[in-house]
Amino acid sequence: LLKAEKIRKEFDNTSVLKDISLEVNEGEVVAIIGPSGSGKSTLLRCLTQLEKVDSGRIEVCDNVMVDTYSGFGYADNKTLHKIILEVGLVFQNFNLFPHYSVLRNIVDAQVKVLGIDKNTAKEKALSLLEKMNLRDRANAYPCELSGGQQQRIAIARALALNPRILFFDEPTSALDPELTGEILKVIRSLAEEHMTMVIVTHEMAFARDVADRVIFMDEGVIVEQGTPDEVFGNTVNERTKSFLQRFN
Ligand code: ATP
Ligand code: MG
Repeated sequence: LLKAEKIRKEFDNTSVLKDISLEVNEGEVVAIIGPSGSGKSTLLRCLTQLEKVDSGRIEVCDNVMVDTYSGFGYADNKTLHKIILEVGLVFQNFNLFPHYSVLRNIVDAQVKVLGIDKNTAKEKALSLLEKMNLRDRANAYPCELSGGQQQRIAIARALALNPRILFFDEPTSALDPELTGEILKVIRSLAEEHMTMVIVTHEMAFARDVADRVIFMDEGVIVEQGTPDEVFGNTVNERTKSFLQRFN
């Protein structure tokens, strides 16, 4: 579903991504772990077009987004737009519109991005709110909700756009520990529905539990990847070991 080859990205002459290659298959849940500053967010931003790569090749749902190696460069705007519709992104800080109600946050996204009519969008929004156990908060404003509730709204908004792949950048790190669980539960239930997901997280127990594959990044490279048991259980890699020790 997603294929990235040798992605490079520099900021101010500092290499942040150094030849990152990864593939995500349909229905797979991939967790990305690694220390602060290792390039995890930058990688997600490059894969979701929030940032342009300096070089590399990225293919999403059989559409080439960029290929600097063949001289193709970035795809035309029409193709880029088509690709952007295939991916969803959930941020650390929810990024809801504060002056819109919960319902309008989810409805507007659909109307603007997918061009569907308001009533259909509203029905879909309400059914997603139901799924998130927040139907009774449809008319509330984001500031009236807990962080965990806001994040569930953000997830509902992303899901409303029917993405083929959902990316999460530390979805629980802005939350109090007691609210983290409710978000992890939602992600877990999406995994059970075989939603394809790429999740940057510091929740090691969760990554171990829910991911099909774990990628450990450090200093702009993928140091190691494998099944949760391979990475968490018996890695022989010294860098992975020393990173994981911090969580014990
Ligand atoms: P964290 O776990 O703290 O979120 P991360 O792995 O997500 O870290 P990134 O946010 O991708 O790390 O940052 C990687 C490096 O790139 C850092 O050194 C950061 O300072 C730098 N960086 C990221 N975005 C920019 C930017 N827009 N301009 C300049 N430097 C940037
Ligand atoms: Mg980050």
